[in-house]
Amino acid sequence: MTTIVLVQGDITRQSADAIVNAANSSLLGGGGVDGAIHRHGGPAILDECRRLRASHYGKGLPTGRAVATTAGELDARWVIHTVGPVHRASGGDPSLLTSCYREALRVADELGARTVAFPAISTGAYGWPLEDAARIAVEAVRAMDTAVEEVRFVLFDDRAYEAFAAQLG
Ligand code: ADP
Repeated sequence: MTTIVLVQGDITRQSADAIVNAANSSLLGGGGVDGAIHRHGGPAILDECRRLRASHYGKGLPTGRAVATTAGELDARWVIHTVGPVHRASGGDPSLLTSCYREALRVADELGARTVAFPAISTGAYGWPLEDAARIAVEAVRAMDTAVEEVRFVLFDDRAYEAFAAQLG
């Protein structure tokens, strides 16, 4: 059984086996969660992202996929980078956003992570409406057969927290 926990706050302050990054396909950092993770986690994360890019993802990490690196100085063992869909480009089709949660949990299972902290993927720069993104996130996690014991959604502000809380009822 996976327990879903909601927390309001900054994901870079969380203690967990794995922290999920709402990355972009370049894996070279960006704004929002991505910027905060690299800022607080230090250069080891970017070094490993660069190596992954060179070895596997020269064309970028595809949307909906996930890959792990060290967590650097964060209070975690791994950062799992996943690339959310841009809402407008996806036409609102939930499959790639669902895939982000599923793939991140699949990678977490491969690593043996038992606690995984997620941000609200795609709800910032990528423009996914919060209520819909929250529903997709919660449904994706609930449908997943995983050894992860705790999925913690870390929501930055009141609105995001309320959107996820409404889904958990
Ligand atoms: P995306 O490009 O996938 O939309 P963003 O990082 O722009 O990703 O935003 C995703 C969500 O993460 C937004 O709801 C944003 O408010 C939130 N967010 C931004 N910084 C943090 C942080 N440090 N911790 C947790 N959530 C954050």
